[in-house]
Amino acid sequence: MTLHAGIFGYPIRHSISPAMHNAAFGSAEIDAVYEAWETAPDRLAAGVAALRDGSFLGANVTVPHKQAVMEHLDDIDSLATRIGAVNTIVNQNGRLLGSNTDALGFINSLKNEAGVNVSGLNVVLIGAGGAARAAAYALVDERVGELTIANRTVERAESLATELRKTGAETVSYGISDPDLLSACERADLIVNSTSVGMLHGPAEGESPIPASAISPGCVVYDMVYNPSRTPLLTDAEKSGARIVGGLPMLVHQGAAAWTRWTGREAPVEVMFEAAREALGL
Ligand code: NAP
Repeated sequence: MTLHAGIFGYPIRHSISPAMHNAAFGSAEIDAVYEAWETAPDRLAAGVAALRDGSFLGANVTVPHKQAVMEHLDDIDSLATRIGAVNTIVNQNGRLLGSNTDALGFINSLKNEAGVNVSGLNVVLIGAGGAARAAAYALVDERVGELTIANRTVERAESLATELRKTGAETVSYGISDPDLLSACERADLIVNSTSVGMLHGPAEGESPIPASAISPGCVVYDMVYNPSRTPLLTDAEKSGARIVGGLPMLVHQGAAAWTRWTGREAPVEVMFEAAREALGL
């Protein structure tokens, strides 16, 4: 029997996840197919219910369904519960388990592709949406040093910082234009952009979330945006002498973690990287 997996999103036509996961199934000689399922919000419940069939390994979930999907699952692991978003569903004999592999994808991409261990580091995280929440909880779980969260809507940054402080984390929050954010960036070991600023075809295409002058040469600058592969933030960071990491490694590592949950096997990460680069025309 051919097994199935896929991704719920709306829109989802340009997803590179099918290329990445199908390459992994092919290389591991697993008879399975991964598809992009364009799913309007009113079709999500039915789509998720169909996953209980034995021919489905599970699914990925992306914008705008990562929160809404939670009420349709039988169980949600503790990390996804804390983040408040599910990006991976595993079909365990008809029961649907939700988890979040964005957090692991973020940490593994830093460790494996950039050799960065975040423990004790001074980190500036820009954004307070779903991707930022995954990164924030991953950083706190890895015992980051001081964590500064900055967001356009400052209330969202404050609310995330307050939540994290309850877990014992040392966290401050700013609006994205606050002058204090610039000094926090100058002191940072790691700056992470988890907003959609700079994203191709997005509302802030061609822009950077922080001025180039805020980036110090000794810093690592990480941009979750993977298309374009060289965002304005990364271009500025490179000119400042900082080390840079783009969003593609996170995309591949979150996918690899999901694939392992579905198959119980170690994911062929290099095969997935190659397929993702090819799908993006890199
Ligand atoms: P989201 O929940 O919609 O959050 C969007 C974030 O971007 C919010 O913090 C929002 O601020 C901020 N933002 C949007 N437009 C802005 C602008 N013009 N100026 C300043 N801030 C702006 O989205 P998400 O799921 O967190 O995704 C965020 C980005 O991360 C996307 O580009 C996504 O592709 C990327 N991502 C990458 C990976 C990966 O594997 N590489 C994984 C997940 C996400 P407000 O709160 O003020 O609206």
